[in-house]
Amino acid sequence: MTTDMLFRQAFIASPIGMAILDVEGRFRNVNPALARMLGRDASELQGRSIADFTHPDDSPAALGMIDRVAGGAVPDAQVQQRFLHPTGDNVWARVTVSRSLSGTDRVLIAQIEDVTETHRAKDLLQRRAMYDHLTGLANRQLLNDRLALALDNHAGRTTTVACVFLDVDHFKIVNDSLGHEAGDTMLVEIGRRIQNAVRPGDTVARLGGDEFVVVLENVRSRAAAEGVISLITSAVQAPVIVEGHEIVPTVSAGLALADPDSTAETLVRAADTAMFAAKQAGRARVEAYHPTMHREVMSKLSVEAELRTAIREGQLVVHYQPVVELTTRRVVAFEALVRWQHPSRGLLMPSEFIAISEEANLVVPLGSFVLHEACRFLASRPEFAGRVFVNVSTKQIGAADLARVVRSALAESGVEPARLGLEITESGMLMASHAATSDLESLQQLGVDMIIDDFGTGYSALSSVLLNPVAGLKLAREFTLRLGDRATGDRISTAMATLTSSLQMYGVIEGIETEAQYAIARQHGWTFGQGFLFGHATPSERLAFEPDGSVRILPEHSESGPGTVLPGTFSSERTGAFGFSQDLGDDLDDELARLL
Ligand code: C2E
Ligand code: MG
Ligand code: MG
Repeated sequence: MTTDMLFRQAFIASPIGMAILDVEGRFRNVNPALARMLGRDASELQGRSIADFTHPDDSPAALGMIDRVAGGAVPDAQVQQRFLHPTGDNVWARVTVSRSLSGTDRVLIAQIEDVTETHRAKDLLQRRAMYDHLTGLANRQLLNDRLALALDNHAGRTTTVACVFLDVDHFKIVNDSLGHEAGDTMLVEIGRRIQNAVRPGDTVARLGGDEFVVVLENVRSRAAAEGVISLITSAVQAPVIVEGHEIVPTVSAGLALADPDSTAETLVRAADTAMFAAKQAGRARVEAYHPTMHREVMSKLSVEAELRTAIREGQLVVHYQPVVELTTRRVVAFEALVRWQHPSRGLLMPSEFIAISEEANLVVPLGSFVLHEACRFLASRPEFAGRVFVNVSTKQIGAADLARVVRSALAESGVEPARLGLEITESGMLMASHAATSDLESLQQLGVDMIIDDFGTGYSALSSVLLNPVAGLKLAREFTLRLGDRATGDRISTAMATLTSSLQMYGVIEGIETEAQYAIARQHGWTFGQGFLFGHATPSERLAFEPDGSVRILPEHSESGPGTVLPGTFSSERTGAFGFSQDLGDDLDDELARLL
């Protein structure tokens, strides 16, 4: 076989792209591998210049190389360049050109290797270093760079930079109950919604977990920044379907505006602190940073250790807040609310330790203490015929066998099951629908009512919550605050009141602080209410039950007056009003469709 024939065979069979070029860079001949690589027929390439298929930015270098080799300046040369594939993709290639050895004919031989994969990998590495791999948003590094740049650009200007820290509410519940993939899907969707709600130039970053940060530039005022935040929060709040569950995500937001001393780091920290305040104030809300805000000073670990001791050594106490029948203002029940009588920090509210107790798995012994204590309270106050409602955490249901704990608290105190009610948050119900239905069912069979607390603030679609054995709903305080606002507050409140009564559940509206709210709540059709207007959570020794059935809340120092008198408690037969029809099942969705 001649050398020519050998070359021809190698040329055709080569897995690497090869071409014979004239000195101008036109294809005289291409092999099948090259045609495949460029996504074209060999006939399409023949006679055309290599520049016709090269990315415009790369053609000067490609043609320059051909010139140098053809002119004899160098025997061979190499460039990396992009070819244009008909699909619109770029094909990265390493192109090596050399002069033909077969003397007379002045042609060049090009070897063209596809290196697209290597380029992609390199690109990816670069992106990884700056972008969040899950959502494709900026990561902390890029956020800091952009923020520092923005702060520099704004020095001496009248407008400023705003940093918004967003944290998804109850994300852990979605993640724990529906799985990590579901959690990831939700984060990607939330990231996309945030990105779409801001201007194209604004930076949106994800710091990991469920934390997002948005940098807004050219901000004229706090109100302007808050306007953007409300666009973001309402975009986030559209329902998403995850694993067949309809979930309505909400975020808590913290806002910090840059001052001349701000650095990227201090600004993000301030926004984070404000976000923390928003969470503490009840989630799904916005707080602007103020220098008096301080993040929880104690470390989580020390709270955890102290809380263990507190449970063991009886530092926890339970206070009771009256629940009244709205038409008569009679006390029909109490809600048991735990407090921590801390030896050095004074009386601590649940917001300071419930979340930590849940993380540290201390909420099970804590909850069991409150249940026993509430039953002892009922047993020790035979004058009181109403009920006590106890808050339970999701962690207490299912694995921790809530039904058993409840049975033992009832047995120990000799209290009737119907005297005890349990409050489970809406998000708790979502989780319960997966892991712990049987626990909830045994409680229902026992005759202990369950009501949904903070209704309206959770994630779940109404139907998935209400399909659990639920006796009543407690409208979240967020909505009470908006009573009198016809556009939203009043509409939600009336819809919920109607919903509860037509499902034959009982409805409690919480957080009533003023006579005006009280009047509106009655108009809307709520049956029961709770709030500072009727009474704060009070230690049991300051509750006096009068022979006429009224309840007196004694002042802290009893010498200072008679205290607040609340009209009579329900007689035992009237507690029946707290009963409910249990057969909700099938009609529920129709009912909801009609009402909302
Ligand atoms: P929650 O169950 O929604 O309880 C209502 C909270 O609102 C109570 O706060 C109550 O003091 C407060 N509140 C009642 N009326 C008004 C009002 O008119 N205005 C205002 N501004 N607030 C009012 P608290 O006692 O700080 O409890 C906070 C949360 O801690 C409770 O919210 C509940 O989720 C949780 N919690 C309390 N005790 C326990 C417990 O024993 N176990 C568990 N797992 N959670 C508990
Ligand atoms: Mg409650
Ligand atoms: Mg509540």
